[in-house]
Amino acid sequence: MRQSKLFTKTRKEVPADEVAKNAMLLIRAGYIAKEMAGAYSYLPLGLKVVEKIKQIVREEMDAIDGQELIMTSLQRKELWEKTGRWDESVVDVWFKSELRSGAAVGFGWSHEEPIGEMMKNYISSYKDMPVSVYQFQTKFRNEVRAKSGVMRGREFVMKDMYSFCADEDSHLAYYESVKPAYMKVYKRLGIGEDTFVTFAAGGAFTKFSHEFQTICNTGEDVVYLNKEKRVAINEEVLNDEILESLGVTRKELTKTNTAEVGNIFNFGQQKASELGLAFKDKQGKKVPVWIGSYGIGVTRLVGVLVEKFSDDKGICWPSSVSPFAFHILEIGKSNEAGRFASELYTSLSERGIEVLWDDRDRSAGEKFADADLIGIPYQIIISDRGLSGGEVELKERLTGKTSFINEADIINTVLKILKNNGNAGKNS
Ligand code: ATP
Ligand code: MG
Repeated sequence: MRQSKLFTKTRKEVPADEVAKNAMLLIRAGYIAKEMAGAYSYLPLGLKVVEKIKQIVREEMDAIDGQELIMTSLQRKELWEKTGRWDESVVDVWFKSELRSGAAVGFGWSHEEPIGEMMKNYISSYKDMPVSVYQFQTKFRNEVRAKSGVMRGREFVMKDMYSFCADEDSHLAYYESVKPAYMKVYKRLGIGEDTFVTFAAGGAFTKFSHEFQTICNTGEDVVYLNKEKRVAINEEVLNDEILESLGVTRKELTKTNTAEVGNIFNFGQQKASELGLAFKDKQGKKVPVWIGSYGIGVTRLVGVLVEKFSDDKGICWPSSVSPFAFHILEIGKSNEAGRFASELYTSLSERGIEVLWDDRDRSAGEKFADADLIGIPYQIIISDRGLSGGEVELKERLTGKTSFINEADIINTVLKILKNNGNAGKNS
């Protein structure tokens, strides 16, 4: 992509009511635009990041036999009445509206009830299970406070997955398999070390649900954790009983601010009993299905990554989600830099490498500042001065480390970096 064609421009101002660092940086760099508190549009750069996160999540959900689908945002009141969750004293984040007929509809804040209902069409025997389905869906939640930028939207993208099993063993085995799958996602996003499987409230069948909490100063949650033992307990469930069952003492745990980037629930057979989702077991007896529900906050993750990977100059994306792999900065008035940049851009693009080329007629200072704000992990600086010595400069955004590469070696250097990053990603 040529930067001269990118319709978004970096900017100095952010909306007066914006207080979250993640949204301020994302707005200034041209990733998102604010519609209103808790509602953000994703612009071309921002959409690329969202899509990369989704693709990582997709690969890991597919690896545990998830099947992707997409459900509607409009939901029927009757389904939620069956489980008591239409009631606003039970669920306080509903956006509701009505059809012209007067019938009430809700905007999906979650999808357990509709998916459970839909599955009645596909599950009637134990032979129809296990099934696991997931979607990337825009959820609507009328949150009281939306001051954390994209980390707490009133409209946001979630990956939600639901598993349906015929017996407790396979249900629990599936639930357990989601934990490492989620951890693989966070690892690929560069936050594996800082993300902890956390005991939390909720879960109908079990005493606890499991949250995936990432250390983050501006996160809204408080977790007690021990990094070495990788034990984490949400403050809402911290008590002697849980400490004892996990074999830790309160003194070993540090109170830490975190952001919840995922949450998994074990509904046991309760949800299916309420919805009337049952199957015939081997003896021909009607039994409620075992259901698990598994969420990942896709757009919240965009915010968490910016909160964690940024400095006073701007964003420093992890390679796995950066909108582009390399940022070519063409510096200098002569044709030489422009010609070299253009050739490099073409040969990298032809290899399928994602490059942003700052071909704009701007000062070097402006280009450096914009590149640091946008936060692509590697900048290739092509200047008249460098080329006169046969060199281009390679700068790593995160560390600020620069090196000078012989102009003939730059493509090989790029390929080497990609290879290393690739190896550090998916399969590690
Ligand atoms: P929170 O406690 O932060 O309000 P939750 O427990 O209500 O979240 P879940 O229903 O478990 O959230 O949703 C699954 C995931 O979706 C969460 O782990 C989180 O990452 C993300 N998420 C939840 N609410 C929001 C929101 N308002 N904006 C962005 N992401 C959200
Ligand atoms: Mg939660």
